[in-house]
Amino acid sequence: MTVTELVSYEDALASYDPVMGLEVHVELGTKTKMFCGCSTELGADPNTQTCPVCLGMPGALPVVNATGVESAIKIGLALHCEIAEWCRFARKNYFYPDMPKNFQTSQYDEPIAFNGYLDVQLEDGEVFRVEIERAHMEEDTGKSTHVGGATGRIHGAQHSLLDYNRAGIPLIEIVTKPIEGAGERAPEVAKAYVAELRELIKALGVSEARMEMGQMRCDVNLSLRPHGREKFGTRSETKNVNSLRSVERAVRFEVQRHASVLSAGGTIVQETRHFHEEDGSTTSGRIKEEAEDYRYFPEPDLVPVAPSREWVEELRGTLPELPRVRRNRLREDWGVTEHDMQSILNAGAVDLIVATVEAGADSAAARKWWMGELARSANESGTDLAALPITPAQVARVAALVAEGSLNDKLARQVIEGVLAGEGDPDAVVDKRGLKVVSDDSALGAAVDEAIAANAAIADKIRGGKVAAAGALVGAVMKATRGQADAARVRELILERLGVEG
Ligand SMILES: [Zn+2]
Repeated sequence: MTVTELVSYEDALASYDPVMGLEVHVELGTKTKMFCGCSTELGADPNTQTCPVCLGMPGALPVVNATGVESAIKIGLALHCEIAEWCRFARKNYFYPDMPKNFQTSQYDEPIAFNGYLDVQLEDGEVFRVEIERAHMEEDTGKSTHVGGATGRIHGAQHSLLDYNRAGIPLIEIVTKPIEGAGERAPEVAKAYVAELRELIKALGVSEARMEMGQMRCDVNLSLRPHGREKFGTRSETKNVNSLRSVERAVRFEVQRHASVLSAGGTIVQETRHFHEEDGSTTSGRIKEEAEDYRYFPEPDLVPVAPSREWVEELRGTLPELPRVRRNRLREDWGVTEHDMQSILNAGAVDLIVATVEAGADSAAARKWWMGELARSANESGTDLAALPITPAQVARVAALVAEGSLNDKLARQVIEGVLAGEGDPDAVVDKRGLKVVSDDSALGAAVDEAIAANAAIADKIRGGKVAAAGALVGAVMKATRGQADAARVRELILERLGVEG
């Protein structure tokens, strides 16, 4: 049944509880594919990174990529999962043009990692635990390009092109248990979970997890059930949602859509759905297969994976500090609020600030430049903070010049502008542009005298004891020296000249 009028999100929540299940696919950053030696490098000409194994030629025999297994175990451990002592790959049979073997090598009832959790922090600081069902290894499919239609989709296309370079690239699929109890915060929980998972994957160094590049994608399962009922409703599965914001929107839309259907007395069809970036809606895909439709059976060409406990413990020892723990530690070190830390995270500035502090800056100065001048600059040029042509060491040098009094904030901003414009290191920009705070009395004296002469009435007020009026004269000197005067010294000189005690 289709619904033309969506019930509001608030009305939907007044009658129903959302239950979510999130399935995230992560492409591992291994050098070679999961079951053959083909390169995984992006950007090569179509079908140049293939071999008999990943093209599914008869008789070709796969071999498991050890780094792929190691990455899967690391992800499992970081998600507090148990690691299987023995597990197998399975064939998931289905016919699809971008899958040359006509089955996907995956894992079925014996995943490498299972029964874990990930704690995610919501924007108000509350921690929500998302339970992990399993993390299993599998391989990516090839890529189809549909040519000749108006939409780029298969419908209406005249022909389709297939590129098998991606076929066989290692994937880890991470599946949550049903996420219940999030209520109206379900969209926020979904987004926070995917964000936290992405940070974790990056911290482990197993993938760059760039959603915009398809290295990480999320399938959003959602169902509603009336308040007080235990049994889950029928779910829909919105496939391949490609950004954090889209995950949030997809959940919200499906909550409203399900509620609209159910409130009108309709039934939800179990199906996959497509998400549309333009308006945040979803449309029907195909009717969802049940697991038995795939006729899973153990892969006879691969030996079972049986990671020794020693190896697992060794890998556990290599795990980095978890991102949420690290963020909380930094938040305390830096003395910032939860909200500020969230902004720093959203701006992609955490690692940059850490590196700037390591290069000698104090954390307040590092935060100030990255979250102020540099964030503005990144915003204007539409790039990521990390992509700006300035290094943490250069920012630390600017902060040092300010700390020692050679630059004031205004001059420091000009130095940063110079570095971003490719004029060289901060010291080179200072030299070239002649940007130094002038604190030398002989150089400042003339400007101070002129300011006093030009503002006789103000000077009289100061002589009369109204010391606060000195600010106007300091301003005049700063203007005359194009901001390069040492303001504190200027103030002292003015008061000295007028015979007043500061
Ligand atoms: Zn290959």
